[in-house]
Amino acid sequence: MRVALFGGTFDPPHLGHLGIARAAAESFALDTVLFAPVGQQPLKPGVTLTSFADRFAMVRLACEQEQKIPPGTSFTASTVDAPQPNGEPNYTVDTLARLRQEMPEAALYNLVGADSFLSLRKWREPERLLELAEWIVVSRPGYSLDDLSPLALTESERSRVHLIETVHHDVSSTWLRERLAAGDSARDLLPEGVARYIRQHNLYRGN
Ligand code: ATP
Repeated sequence: MRVALFGGTFDPPHLGHLGIARAAAESFALDTVLFAPVGQQPLKPGVTLTSFADRFAMVRLACEQEQKIPPGTSFTASTVDAPQPNGEPNYTVDTLARLRQEMPEAALYNLVGADSFLSLRKWREPERLLELAEWIVVSRPGYSLDDLSPLALTESERSRVHLIETVHHDVSSTWLRERLAAGDSARDLLPEGVARYIRQHNLYRGN
């Protein structure tokens, strides 16, 4: 069983997210990609996110309706990173430790984009993060993976990091929120069901 945790704010989920999940699933013959909207992102404190319920619903629609999932893989919306009852941030190291316990036999991967990976040293317990899972890092326009020396990875840590540099989706949730607030449907970059959900629930319409 080969399982990838794909955490993010997914505010909203977009075609870039689906594209990198597809690339990872194809390259690593993944059985499951767990799309896990985060309750409270530790590196984005104070940022007001759309409610977890709405983000989870959109992620579920994106996964259920995706037509191009590689054969043998499932894309699943997961609550492993749901908001904590005490309101504390969700740390990936805790999430991966829990998954490792629940699935001791699984080959566990952490799937991230280049920007997230390049901020690894700001994450809680980077060394343990690299022990708990192998990492799949996908290229993102504007973030170079040519020089990883600032991350100061040991040789053994580096061997657990796998780069996919053939994906170039120039899209972010931030940009989509701006377009949506300006009244643009942004349907070119949103899964159809997500675009519909946003319309029906009047999300991102500006304040
Ligand atoms: P925001 O603009 O709100 O920061 P985002 O578009 O970066 O959002 P997130 O939900 O924060 O989306 O990202 C979840 C994960 O997906 C992160 O690891 C991020 O690096 C990765 N990711 C998101 N969009 C892309 C993209 N276009 N190309 C590569 N990776 C991406």
